[in-house]
Amino acid sequence: MKKIIVLIALSLSCHVFGQTDAEMVKEIYKSALLEGKSYNWLETLSLDIGGRLSGSLNAERAVDWGKEELDELGLDKVWLQPVMVPKWVRGAKEFAYIRAGSGKTTDVNICALGGSVATNPLGVTAAVVEVKNFDDLKALGEAGIKGKIVFYNRPMQADLINTFDAYGGCVDQRYMGAVEAAKYGAGGVIVRSMTLNIDDLPHAGSMTYGDLPVSERIPSAAISTKGANLLSSMLKLDKTLTFYFKQNCKQFADVKTYNVIGEITGSQYPDEYIIVGGHLDSWDLGDGSHDDGAGIVQSMEVLRLFKTLKIKPKHSIRVVMFMNEENGLRGATEYAKVATAKGEKHVVSLESDSGGFTPRGFSFDCSDATFNKVLSWKPIFKPYLIHYFEQGGTGADVGPLKTADNVTVGLRPDSQRYFDHHHAANDTFDAVNKRELELGAASMASLVYLFDIHGI
Ligand SMILES: [Zn+2]
Repeated sequence: MKKIIVLIALSLSCHVFGQTDAEMVKEIYKSALLEGKSYNWLETLSLDIGGRLSGSLNAERAVDWGKEELDELGLDKVWLQPVMVPKWVRGAKEFAYIRAGSGKTTDVNICALGGSVATNPLGVTAAVVEVKNFDDLKALGEAGIKGKIVFYNRPMQADLINTFDAYGGCVDQRYMGAVEAAKYGAGGVIVRSMTLNIDDLPHAGSMTYGDLPVSERIPSAAISTKGANLLSSMLKLDKTLTFYFKQNCKQFADVKTYNVIGEITGSQYPDEYIIVGGHLDSWDLGDGSHDDGAGIVQSMEVLRLFKTLKIKPKHSIRVVMFMNEENGLRGATEYAKVATAKGEKHVVSLESDSGGFTPRGFSFDCSDATFNKVLSWKPIFKPYLIHYFEQGGTGADVGPLKTADNVTVGLRPDSQRYFDHHHAANDTFDAVNKRELELGAASMASLVYLFDIHGI
């Protein structure tokens, strides 16, 4: 009896002083850094498969690969969850140039925005009207816009330290630019790429036509920041210049694909779930290493760490590779729908979809009580330089799982270089650092471990 009391006291004191937790977390980081698999997985996903836009052959190859790798981890369950997704195809590479009043032309780099219609087969040529926002459109009115190409050129705000805030402050131009410009009879839309870098790379991303009838849809493209600066400066000197662009993209009927899911079933609460995930699809210009190959392999690594370190979780731990985050969010929507229909209680849902850069911490959408509990774990993370714990936005794919009494979390890596690569041709494997990627995976596994042990 005495022995039992001593043992209980010991285990309590260990938790009080964080020793047991700290030691386990140390083991997690050690395994991720010394024998981690995330970087090798990313190499295969990025270099052997590559860009994997929803509905593409590569996206299907990624589904097969994901399932195969999860099968090898020896989880309790691995399965594919069917979901219908949009299929948009870029087609032949886009082409664009600025033609000065003198007749001299200068090529610029553009890419069609995801979901855009093609130009007519000969391309679009028109005068250009530069705007910074939708209020500018209103001020110009139909008289100033009809038949012209609207050029959205509001840059990301460089003095915002969180570059996601800068992105959020600009992305309406890309997402809503065409539908807004079409109201005034514009013939097309060119949008400054969503990046703080000044370079030659156009950055893709999704756009919408809202309820606009097919006949009124106008082509919409991103232009590189160098191209945008050139166009803007030329416009100031030469009001007679025109812009030409041609793009060949096409929207097809929805196709069937899958979310890929693996699970370690919980020992005490098998019907309560802690999930980690990212999105398996990516844009097509690069190989999607940061967005979101990194989140996929980090999430896989969380379950590998649990298996390797023989951690038997109390809750069921799932890895979810969501399909179609980029241009539809259908995978996340379907996953949440099925979870609700089955009455599955999702206690914590953690997403990594902010790049594979040095992890700084996490953002939480949860009650104040849970957040205070999380703050008490800060000393455990201190040796790993994980210090950012804030309440706020978490992630697109876990959003549909949010309820009044559960927790959604987003991994928060350093964001300074993320938009240099985001949705562009340089979102590639060489841009991901092995240690930074592994530290992110270890941080995620540690947080999942703490939530599993201590609850929310
Ligand atoms: Zn993403």
